[in-house]
Amino acid sequence: MNLSPVNQIVHPDFNKYGVEVFIKRDDLIHPIISGNKWRKLKYNLRSAQELGCQQILSFGGAFSNHIHALAFACKQQNLQAIGVIRGEEQYQHNFTLSWAKYWHMELRFIDRITYKKRNNADYIAQLQAEFPEAFIVPEGGSNQLALPGVGEVITELNEQSEYDYLLTPVGSGGTIAGLIKTDNNQHKILGIAVLKQGDYLANEVNALLGDGADNYNKWQILNQFHRGGYGKYKPEDAERMLQFSQTTGIPLEPVYSGKMILALLDLLEQDYFKAGAKIMLLHTGGLQGLGGMAERGLISADDWPVPEQAPSISR
Ligand SMILES: *Cc1c(COP(=O)(O)O)cnc(C)c1O
Repeated sequence: MNLSPVNQIVHPDFNKYGVEVFIKRDDLIHPIISGNKWRKLKYNLRSAQELGCQQILSFGGAFSNHIHALAFACKQQNLQAIGVIRGEEQYQHNFTLSWAKYWHMELRFIDRITYKKRNNADYIAQLQAEFPEAFIVPEGGSNQLALPGVGEVITELNEQSEYDYLLTPVGSGGTIAGLIKTDNNQHKILGIAVLKQGDYLANEVNALLGDGADNYNKWQILNQFHRGGYGKYKPEDAERMLQFSQTTGIPLEPVYSGKMILALLDLLEQDYFKAGAKIMLLHTGGLQGLGGMAERGLISADDWPVPEQAPSISR
C-alpha cells in the first residue's frame, strides 16, 4: 500500500500566528477504508490469519467507522466478519450497516444493556463458545495489536516531513497510544478528546502502552475541546468546520477531524504554539459517518461531503 500523502495547509490564521501546518491524509489511504480504523485492524487481521481463524468478530454502534472498516477489510482478505451491533435490527438498513452487509458482514443486534458487557470476560467467553472459530477484536479495534499498525503513521511521517507537534483526535485512545509508542519521544503529541469527561483517557493510553509507559513523556490529551460530548457540537462549530473545509479543501466530519481542527484554531488564538512551530495534523478518516448523519437529518448533504450509499442488495 502507498503512503498516504502529507499536504501543507494554507489558511490565513496560520500566517497570522506564524506557524506551518501540515496534514497526513489518512482519509486517503484507500477510497473506502477509513484511516485509523484500517491502521488498527492491520495486525489484528494478520494475527487472526496466523492463528488460522477465518472469522473476525467485533463490536460497534450502528454508525461505527470501525464496523464499516472491518466489514470491508474482511471482504478484501477473504475473512468472515461478524458485527455485534448495539441496538435494534432496523438499523441494518442504515448507511453504515447497509455497506457492511453489502460486504457480507453478518450482523447480530444486541440491546444496550447487553452491549455494556462487551468488554466483560464472561460475556466474551460466551461469544467465543458460540463462535469458536472467531478472533475477537474489541470495540473500535483498540487493543495491543492496534499499536504497531498505527505506529506505521510515524514511520511514514519520518520519511515524509519534519514537524514539532502531531495532533490527533482521541476517542478510545488506541490511535494516540500507537503514535506515542512508535514516535518514542521524538515529537510532542497532542490528543484532542472528542468526548466529555475524558480525564480517564490518559490511563487508557498508559494501559495500552503497558510496561514502559512511563518512558513516554512528550504527549498530552487535551480535554477541553469536546464541544458538548461525543457526536455533539453547536451550529457555530459546524459553521467553522465547513468554513475551514472551504478555505483549505480538506474534507472534515464533525465527530473527529472537525473537532481537531477547531481545537487547533482555538489553541492558535490562545498563543499555545510558538511562532515558527511546525504542526502536523493526522486526518483519521471517518468520512463514512457523514452518510448516517445525513440520513438522520443531522447534517445537510449540500454542505458536507456525504459519501455514496451502498447498492441495494436482495439477500
Ligand atoms: C475511532 C476514530 C478516532 C479515535 O480513535 P481512537 O483510537 O478510538 O482514539 C478518530 N478518528 C476517527 C475518524 C475515528 O473513526
